[in-house]
Amino acid sequence: MERLDRFMAAANAAYYATHDPFADFTTAPEISQVFGELLGLWAAVVWQQMGRPAPVLLAEAGPGRGTLMADALRAIGQAAGDFAAALRLHLVETSPRLRAEQAARLPGAAWHECLVDLPRGPLILLANEFLDALPIRQFVRRAGSWRERYVAAGAFIECPLTDPPFDLPDDLAEGAVMEVNEAARAAVAELAARLAEGGGVALFLDYGPERSAPGDSFQAIRAGRPADPLLAPGSADLTAHVDFAALARRARDVGAAVFGPLAQGIFLARLGLSERAQRLARGRTPEQAAAVLAGVERLALPARMGRLFKALAIAHPGLSELPGFPA
Ligand code: SAH
Repeated sequence: MERLDRFMAAANAAYYATHDPFADFTTAPEISQVFGELLGLWAAVVWQQMGRPAPVLLAEAGPGRGTLMADALRAIGQAAGDFAAALRLHLVETSPRLRAEQAARLPGAAWHECLVDLPRGPLILLANEFLDALPIRQFVRRAGSWRERYVAAGAFIECPLTDPPFDLPDDLAEGAVMEVNEAARAAVAELAARLAEGGGVALFLDYGPERSAPGDSFQAIRAGRPADPLLAPGSADLTAHVDFAALARRARDVGAAVFGPLAQGIFLARLGLSERAQRLARGRTPEQAAAVLAGVERLALPARMGRLFKALAIAHPGLSELPGFPA
């Protein structure tokens, strides 16, 4: 019997080490090059706002195939040569298999096992669909108290609490499920403390509601389809919706500034998504141009990824504005 977060951590480590996740699901940078380009230009503007520190760490957590960063660096090279010269590329990735793919596309990068291993100094961190892969705990309301979900033989077992998080509400109905993203909260709190002290910003793009809410969002994708998350651990990608409000609270508690969560469609539109897509589409065949526009629509339309996905930034409190976020 294993607590759900331990089960999820082990299953995902095995999955990312042995599978090509991109055979199973598609992420924003794999849908359109414009996504990484806009985030690269976002980073270049933020670097200016930070007072152009040199050197500066440009980092990514969970870089997948390295597509987002390759697109970002190309745009930075074209538009912001002095930022390109100042930046040092650092990647946080646990999967040896994905590290090899990243190395082929991002020469000169340094790799780390976790966020706290990043070297000191001013930091700009990007992370797309990273937090959703971090392990969660689940609690179920039973007869007026909470029980915790463990996994045994492919099924949930509900056990009495041993080490409860302090912020479970006590007014929910029988059977309600609360998820607690402890690993993400710890990672964000440490990162926020570091940013508040050493300067910089972290931008997370991921899916989840704007406000914390009860509900079971634990899910598995196996071979491109929804699957039972408790069966055949290591053969499916396990994720949960990101509780952005809880992360924002942690970051504020340690003195960081917080921006968002803001719907991805709005964030990307404010960064110039459609202008950049139209520019990219110009001079292409009608089929290629249609594909470019279809890609950015998928990222931004509310019914596609534009509303469920959110952008959340945490920053040094001296940064009072960030591109894309309303003042
Ligand atoms: N950002 C990429 C990939 C998303 S998939 C994209 O948008 O396409 C999740 C990524 O996070 C993979 O690279 C996976 O190996 C990595 N990852 C998952 N859990 C991790 C952990 N605990 N520490 C570091 N990286 C992790």
